[in-house]
Amino acid sequence: MQSQQTDVYDATETFKEFLNSKGLRVTTQRLAIFDAAYGYADHFTAEDLLESARQIDDSVSRATVYRALPILTQSSLIREVDVGRDYKFYAANKNATTFQAQVICVDCDKIFEIDAPFMEWYGKTVADKLGLEVVTQRLQVTARCQSESKSIACGSAPSSDSD
Ligand SMILES: [Zn+2]
Repeated sequence: MQSQQTDVYDATETFKEFLNSKGLRVTTQRLAIFDAAYGYADHFTAEDLLESARQIDDSVSRATVYRALPILTQSSLIREVDVGRDYKFYAANKNATTFQAQVICVDCDKIFEIDAPFMEWYGKTVADKLGLEVVTQRLQVTARCQSESKSIACGSAPSSDSD
């Protein structure tokens, strides 16, 4: 709850501890994949991750990335973002303390994550009324920017494409 500053070193240590706790080896490939994943400020796909992990360690294979992703999500350091496409997006849980709502622009395929702490409260409140305990919840808003006047958010969002 305290530090919102990303400490990549701590995150890497947490990941190593997680691997150890699962009886998995800490390999340079797994660490390269983790570093690449944590280096993203935004969402990424498995293919994005493969590309950037290979820039760190060119021995990383596609199979290694696909096997590492479930481990990363289990560790809670990376979360899966399912926006109902046939492939998944992932994002580093850098400020996992605040509930994130996703706003997905169908016109330009951008995914925004917006702090929505009230949603967490709301989910808890409705579950409490039923005497239940919240396990997970999500809020996804699908939106358009081209039908209205130019969206500031979509238009000014920094592109992570480097090619
Ligand atoms: Zn848009």
